[in-house]
Amino acid sequence: MAGLFAALEASSLGPVLLATKAELHEGNTRHAQGGIAAAIGPGDSPEQHLADTVAAGAGLVNEENARILVESASRRISDLRRYGVHFDSEGVGPAFGREGAHGQARVLHALGDRTGAAVETALAEQVKNGRVVIYEHTLAVEIVMVEGQTVGIRALEQQSGIEHFFEASAVILATGGAGAAFSHTTNTPVATGDGISLAFAAGAEVTDLEFYQFHPTAFRQEGAPPFLISEALRGEGAVLRNHRGQAFMGRYHELADLAPRDIVARAMISEMRASNSDHIWLDCTVLNNLNPIERFPGIASFCRERGIDLRKDHIPVAPAAHYLMGGVRTDNWGRTTVPGLYACGESAATGVHGANRLASNSLLETVVFAKRAVEHIESNTGGAMPPSSDSIPFLPAGGAPVDISTIQRLLWKHAGIERTGQELRAGLAVVRAWPMNPRVVSRENHELAWLSIFAELLLTAALIREESRGAHFRTDFPQRDDERWGRHLVFHRAD
Ligand SMILES: Cc1cc2nc3c(=O)[nH]c(=O)nc-3n(C[C@H](O)[C@H](O)[C@H](O)COP(=O)(O)OP(=O)(O)OC[C@H]3O[C@@H](n4cnc5c(N)ncnc54)[C@H](O)[C@@H]3O)c2cc1C
Repeated sequence: MAGLFAALEASSLGPVLLATKAELHEGNTRHAQGGIAAAIGPGDSPEQHLADTVAAGAGLVNEENARILVESASRRISDLRRYGVHFDSEGVGPAFGREGAHGQARVLHALGDRTGAAVETALAEQVKNGRVVIYEHTLAVEIVMVEGQTVGIRALEQQSGIEHFFEASAVILATGGAGAAFSHTTNTPVATGDGISLAFAAGAEVTDLEFYQFHPTAFRQEGAPPFLISEALRGEGAVLRNHRGQAFMGRYHELADLAPRDIVARAMISEMRASNSDHIWLDCTVLNNLNPIERFPGIASFCRERGIDLRKDHIPVAPAAHYLMGGVRTDNWGRTTVPGLYACGESAATGVHGANRLASNSLLETVVFAKRAVEHIESNTGGAMPPSSDSIPFLPAGGAPVDISTIQRLLWKHAGIERTGQELRAGLAVVRAWPMNPRVVSRENHELAWLSIFAELLLTAALIREESRGAHFRTDFPQRDDERWGRHLVFHRAD
């Protein structure tokens, strides 16, 4: 969504090339279900949306940027409509869904629970019919710099094996998240955090990598593919139940099933432990006056294929890696600390999510900051985001394992929902011992190398942050410590 929107908006400025490593539609965007948050309904206001965003972010939200996020929502929703996205309606106005930690029902959705697919299809259609040059199956492998200025990218066209140099006056990274780094995830396999390692190699600062949001309710059944069971179901009244059939969330938080995601995920882990099970049940038989099959057609059909009828049965769910709050550090124009290099969408860390993202703010973030990056490029003012005064110089060990599942298991075990210094240190020792093999140049090998850097940075950041905040939970430091840790951890490449 970030890449498509940026390309569309930039196409009036001059030639635009869009390189994507798989097919155009592949990415996390297509799988987004719940929708896009926008305080445009009656009785709502950007001010209330901002307050919810700041509260969810656990003390680390950049309020200036979050204000831009919520105040731009109405204009970006209009842009999406102009590009052909049809949001679901109720009566004469749009239908608003409610999700966890939102004080209001303010989540616009399309095609029921297929919002991401609706948005992606509409934007991709516009891009294909416009002036943007599209290279599919083309992997960005290097941000090319000359005298400290970005001059383009090197990219590997996978089918021919040809490596191109694409010259550009500005490069916008929109490479998405890194959920594929964990064994249990809601993300697609393309989410390998490439942009973070590419930008880091080019000298850009990266930040907040210890903050990985685990979604409480991913479908969990032996052999089933990654699949999210949207929080919007709980917004409509669905209830989590333990193996004794008890609705337990009220014991953990006053908002019960709509508590912030980190709290729900940890409560579920605790209930799962107590019953020695790998899942919890989601009861959708109690939805408020609506037919789950009409409102959530995608989830209903996925469950039906596995013999589960939402009107009668409960869904087996468990937490899984979902959303990276951190990424390439940017200002509110999408500028990184490297001149000519911009980042937006999930690969960027604009600071609007702090230590924990408010549900459905991420799709909004993609379009708000993609637009601003293009506006900044248009202004021709150049420059870069000033570097952080306490950025940590870091040199990755540089090795990699032979397969991705080694990394996935390692991060799930050592840097999952509950972390300890001992586990994080042990994980780091394993990463640092991975061999440095000369490898055949392929997408898979590039991804392994980038994921290894990402894993090392994440483990290091999580080890340094000796407190619990937002999505980062240390059982050996269970309290939030604002005095020591009310700040961001930023890294740049030591050489
Ligand atoms: C199951 C699921 C449900 C979600 N539901 C919601 C929701 O309801 N509301 C919400 O706000 N958010 C939701 N999210 C989060 C949201 O979908 C993502 O944060 C958002 O779509 C990210 O968009 P993006 O454009 O940054 O990345 P993506 O959509 O992931 O796109 C990244 C693109 O970059 C390409 N790429 C990556 N590396 C390279 C490389 N080296 N070279 C070339 N191309 C590359 C990929 O192929 C892909 O096309 C959900 C996420 C998931 C996984």
